[in-house]
Amino acid sequence: MKQILLLKCGELILKGLNRGKFEEKLCSTLRRRLKNIGEYDVRCSQSTVYVEPKGDTPIEPAIDVCQKVFGVVSVCLMAVCEKDMDDICRVGKEYLKDVLESARSFRVTAKRADKRFPVKSPEIGVMVGGYLQDCYSHLRPDMENYDVNVEVNIREDHAYIGAVRLPGAGGMPTGTNGRGMLLLSGGIDSPVAGWCMAKRGIDLSAVHFFSYPYTSEEAKQKVLDLAAILGKWSGKLTVSVVPFTHIQEEIRDKCHEDYFTLVMRRMMMRIAQETAKIQNCGCLITGESLGQVASQTMEALACTNAVCTEVPVFRPLIGMDKEEIITISRRIGAFETSILPYEDCCTVFTPKHPQTKPKLENVIRQEQKLDVDALVKEALDGVERITL
Ligand code: ATP
Ligand code: MG
Repeated sequence: MKQILLLKCGELILKGLNRGKFEEKLCSTLRRRLKNIGEYDVRCSQSTVYVEPKGDTPIEPAIDVCQKVFGVVSVCLMAVCEKDMDDICRVGKEYLKDVLESARSFRVTAKRADKRFPVKSPEIGVMVGGYLQDCYSHLRPDMENYDVNVEVNIREDHAYIGAVRLPGAGGMPTGTNGRGMLLLSGGIDSPVAGWCMAKRGIDLSAVHFFSYPYTSEEAKQKVLDLAAILGKWSGKLTVSVVPFTHIQEEIRDKCHEDYFTLVMRRMMMRIAQETAKIQNCGCLITGESLGQVASQTMEALACTNAVCTEVPVFRPLIGMDKEEIITISRRIGAFETSILPYEDCCTVFTPKHPQTKPKLENVIRQEQKLDVDALVKEALDGVERITL
């Protein structure tokens, strides 16, 4: 029996004249990702994407891939039928045998995208429901509390029947909202922040500040692993690894301890901003969350933000609790890697009494002890770009 995946695309419908462009982006992302696992035909019609295996390519592996593509709201596994009520009933009976035998209650919902089909949706539901109940007499029809929802979909070329609808990643297709530079550390928050913005259609690049030998090669590898996990959702991504040791040593040697973190964060933002410009990224993305640590109070964020004069900084986690962030981290498959015990450059030279209500002029006064431009240039010259 021939099976197909029907993908529902969410907000694309809202995009008016741009819809075609959005659908094309979505389909090209799907084609690129599916190419890695087998041969599939991908096409879009009436806001639904069809994913059809070619030859003896199995359909099951494609489900997981499609669930990770932004812009897909749900993934429905269905059997292909002729546009004929008898064939729909016959295929349904056979295709859904296992699920219906092990269920106690069911309902049928029908959708008729092709209005030329002579039977209207409610009647299709009644006819298919009645037929299946005759075949599986233990089944109780129940429109509210059903074990199985049988879906029938009448579309222009074929009809489809199935009972498996899985959630997609939602959001908008990658690349439909420009490019963004993610400040990626080895922690829990920044991969989640990247994922949240990629979900809104941003094509990600990442920058990582690396303080060898204060932080180890393992710590760097952990960041690259996290980037690879993110890439399963957002597509291939480049990590710019910035040598940060000299900057941190300069700060340690020349600035007042209470300001270490703030001066460091402003240096990160400056370098990230330059890296963003070089790579055509229109925003920075961080995993900051209000009040989580001393450098994330409103006053501290204002000091950090003051150096970002050329691109906006998106902080999608700003209003989230750690628990909420961890839930997303688990869902995207990053959590187990994020909690591996490798140090981050933020934990090198941490002040005992960090400023929680810093004044910008004081931070600037500390910074004047450094040759900021030269340090930024030196760091940018030493960037190592790794594409995953
Ligand atoms: P995370 O869990 O993402 O490490 P955090 O709670 O530890 O975040 P901070 O260490 O203050 O918070 O960092 C805040 C944000 O700054 C991070 O979410 C990340 O976007 C960025 N950042 C911190 N350290 C680095 C680094 N070494 N390289 C790149 N970005 C970093
Ligand atoms: Mg961190």
